[in-house]
Amino acid sequence: MKRIALLGATGSIVRQALEIIAAETELELVAAASGSQAIDGLAPLTQVGGDPTELLERAEPDIVLNAVVGFAGLPATLWALEHGVTLALANKESLVAAGELALAAQERGGGLLLPVDSEHSAAFQCLEGRRPEQVDSLVLTGSGGPFRGRARDELEDVTPDEALAHPTWQMGPKITVDSATLANKGLELIEAHFLFGLPYDRIEVVLQPTSVVHALVRFRDGASLAHLGYPDMRVPIAYALAYPSRSATTVPPLDFSQGLVLEFEPPDLETFPLLALARRAGEQGGTYPCAFNAANEVAVAAFLDGRLPFLGIAATVEETMAEVGGASARDLDDLVEADRTARRLAERALAVT
Ligand code: MG
Repeated sequence: MKRIALLGATGSIVRQALEIIAAETELELVAAASGSQAIDGLAPLTQVGGDPTELLERAEPDIVLNAVVGFAGLPATLWALEHGVTLALANKESLVAAGELALAAQERGGGLLLPVDSEHSAAFQCLEGRRPEQVDSLVLTGSGGPFRGRARDELEDVTPDEALAHPTWQMGPKITVDSATLANKGLELIEAHFLFGLPYDRIEVVLQPTSVVHALVRFRDGASLAHLGYPDMRVPIAYALAYPSRSATTVPPLDFSQGLVLEFEPPDLETFPLLALARRAGEQGGTYPCAFNAANEVAVAAFLDGRLPFLGIAATVEETMAEVGGASARDLDDLVEADRTARRLAERALAVT
C-alpha cells in the first residue's frame, strides 16, 4: 500500500489523482492540502493555507503529489526530496526555480523524482533504463496553444477568455495562459534540463498541434522513441502514482480506424518570445530561471486581472530579465531573494506599461 499526500487539492491535477486513487487498491490517500479553499473531509488529514510541509511531517506519506501552482510549491518539493519520499512533481516552477538545490536534496534523500508534466513523463518513459551517453537529444512537444499560427499584430487585443480556451488540454488558468504564450514550453525546457541532465542545446521544442505525441528521444544510433496517447493528464498522474507498475485508467487507447495524421512544426519564436527568453535564462543558470519564473507569474496574474495586455506578458518578463542581476543559487534564501527581486522589478515594469 502506498500512502499518498496531495498538495494543491482544489486544482485539476488533484481532482484527477483522486479518481485514480479511488480506482487503485494499492493507493491510499492520507493527506491533502489546499492554499485557501476549504477541503474538509477530502482526506484523513487536511490543511488549508500555511506551510504544507507541516502536514507532510504529520502524514508521513510514501508519495507527495505536488500540484501547487507556482514558486509557492518549492518548500514541499524540497521537503520530499530531502526526506527520500517519492515526489510526483506537477509543480514544474519549483524545479525551474531551484533545480540545483532540488537535485542536491534528492542526492541526499535518495528518493525518486517522477515528473507528472505530460511531456516529461513521456520522456522519462522513453529514457527508462537507457544510459545518458546513448542519448542524442530530447524533443519536447507542444500544441502551440490557442494562438498558434497568429501574427504578432493579431495578438494585441486577445482577452483572458481567449487565452484560456486551450485547444487540446484541460488545465488550470496559470498554465493555460503559459501555454498560450509558450512560456510553459520554456519552463518545461528548464525542467527537462534538470530532470534528465541534458544540456540545453540537446533539448528541442517542436509543435505537434493535436498533442498526441508527448515527447521523443533521439538516440545516437539514429533511432527515435516517441510516447503517444490522447492528451489526458490521468496518464502521467497514474504513471507517477503507480510507478514502476501501471494502473488501468479510463483513457481510451489510440484509435487508428479513421487514420491518424501527426504533423510537426517549429515554434514561432518571434511572435512568442517567452520560449527563447526561458532558454536564455536556463543557459545563464544560477538565479536566472527563478527570476524568469517570478516575472512570468507576476505578468500572467496581471493579464488574468485585466491589468496587462497579452503581449505585455512577454514584454514584462523581458524587461525584468534585462534588469535583474544573476547570482548563484546556493540555498533557499538566495532563491527567495531572487524571486522577491524579480517580482518587484516585474511589478515596476507593469506600472510603466
Ligand atoms: Mg506539460
